[in-house]
Amino acid sequence: NKARTFFVGGNFKMNGSLESVKSIVDRLNESKLAASTEVVIAPPAPYLYWAAQNNKKSQVFIAAQNSYDKASGAYTGEISVNCLKDVGATWVILGHSERRTILKETDEMVASKTKFALDNGVKVILCIGETLEERKAGITLEVCARQLDAVSSKVSDWSDVVVAYEPVWAIGTGLAATPEDAEETHVGIRKHLASTIGAEQAEKVRILYGGSVNGKNANTFKDKANIDGFLVGGASLKPEFVDIINSRE
Ligand code: PEP
Repeated sequence: NKARTFFVGGNFKMNGSLESVKSIVDRLNESKLAASTEVVIAPPAPYLYWAAQNNKKSQVFIAAQNSYDKASGAYTGEISVNCLKDVGATWVILGHSERRTILKETDEMVASKTKFALDNGVKVILCIGETLEERKAGITLEVCARQLDAVSSKVSDWSDVVVAYEPVWAIGTGLAATPEDAEETHVGIRKHLASTIGAEQAEKVRILYGGSVNGKNANTFKDKANIDGFLVGGASLKPEFVDIINSRE
């Protein structure tokens, strides 16, 4: 879909060093990136400033992997969106399945953090998706709808939200969803959004697929009208990240 700018996010997770983060940023600086792709990289929080300082590409933006729903104060260990803006990060990934599962973040917490980030001028990559158990039970869309509804009950303007559909069973497993399965779910997600935030906004929201995307399979999603980009974990640390960025050319 031409109206929705192709978007590729790189989630480094809890990996890297000053040296490796710089080498990834340098690789992006030196590579020919498809001009029409918006790229967002999410290094671990300690490296955000470093990544922002070293980035020379105007189409590349910096994201945090988490942020809190308060401006500042006695919240030891949490990340303020004001600090993010201060160091040059303009996006944040919220609701990643690893945070929902390991850190026990609820739909309500994810929604509250999403609202706070947006209200304070930080854009959000909102992750949703079902577990294998939920897929087998046939409730994929119900789960996605529940996760989205928590946010839409607090957030009415979705222009700075990108939705990342990441089936939990596909994350880090090497077992990506088929383009057909992903497209089917993306269509369902967009329909659901149309019913809650309105058709006009739903049509504009970019819906990314995430889960074992790599340099080889990225272009197999090319002809799917509702797959507006990718959120990439493991492969975002490797040279093939550039191939994923350029996979729509
Ligand atoms: C992710 O963590 O958002 C992700 C999609 O991971 P991977 O690409 O490694 O499956």
